[in-house]
Amino acid sequence: MDKENKNIRGSSHLVDPTMKYPRPPFKRQFQPFPGLASKMIPVPDHGEESYIGSGRLIGRKALITGGDSGIGRAAAIAFAREGADVAINYLPEEEPDAIEVIELIRKAGQKAIAIAGDIRDENFCKKLVDQAVQQLEGLDILVNNAGHQKTHESILDISTEEFDRTMKTNLYAPFWIIKSALPHLHPGSCIIGLSSVQAYDPSEDLYDYAQTKAATTSYVKSLAKQLGSKGIRVNGVAPGPVWTALEISGGQTQENIEKFGGDTPLGRPGQPAELASIFVQLADNNASFANGQIYGAAGGSGQP
Ligand code: NAD
Ligand code: MG
Repeated sequence: MDKENKNIRGSSHLVDPTMKYPRPPFKRQFQPFPGLASKMIPVPDHGEESYIGSGRLIGRKALITGGDSGIGRAAAIAFAREGADVAINYLPEEEPDAIEVIELIRKAGQKAIAIAGDIRDENFCKKLVDQAVQQLEGLDILVNNAGHQKTHESILDISTEEFDRTMKTNLYAPFWIIKSALPHLHPGSCIIGLSSVQAYDPSEDLYDYAQTKAATTSYVKSLAKQLGSKGIRVNGVAPGPVWTALEISGGQTQENIEKFGGDTPLGRPGQPAELASIFVQLADNNASFANGQIYGAAGGSGQP
């Protein structure tokens, strides 16, 4: 067998997860919040070159908050390549990242809707859902992915304004968006929330953020019980360290950026692309018995 065939058919085609993606040390880097994925070193992999769809979400209509970059972008690319139309929300400063995602969704042959705006505003959350429903002509997948994380050495360093930003983005916004979306969701629809390993093993420097992730796990499980009988499934994803703009725009100390993900059993952080199939699985009709579940993706640690 020649070398090329051996790579395709033989065991050498297996991919070693420890070596699949960059490992620490990473270059120290800081961008003002919210940061751009396109300016990160290295640029994260959101599945742009690798995700191959197989028609799992044909005809579906998804709204993803924070769909411009990171985990949300990976979900947006995968949903589109599985046949769903996708609306993404992001902050106006993130337009360059958002434009790339919109182009990728269109290239997959799907409708792409870009809705910029700040989800800390209840009125905007209502408008966001209304616009998405109108332009997608319906809605059946809602991913509350947007999040704010900022490291603070001491609780004394967290201003009320900063605490409020974390709570508004991570908890109030999903509350407002779900309330607006619910009247449009029919049996078979699903809601996906973004929890974290921080929900189970909170870091000392993420006092405010960690409690929002514990609350997310809790709202997912509560809502799954409330909406189960209506045929609407609610699940969560709990990532470990993933290489995204959130981390290099204040989410971690520079010291942690340098060694980011090195303490996982795989010895590296995850890339957004490695989580995409979880979102597809949770949205797929085939996952019809998955309700109130939290799916982990943490490279060997974490405990959802
Ligand atoms: P990211 O920075 O790429 O995505 C977060 C997005 O949130 C931003 O792109 C931005 O559009 C959006 N956002 C923040 N504040 C907003 C606001 N006020 N209005 C509108 N949009 C706003 O980072 P990511 O890591 O992909 O984050 C996605 C989710 O994953 C977050 O909920 C985060 O808490 C969660 N998470 C991330 C990690 C990780 O290691 N990266 C680990 C666990 C959980
Ligand atoms: Mg972004």
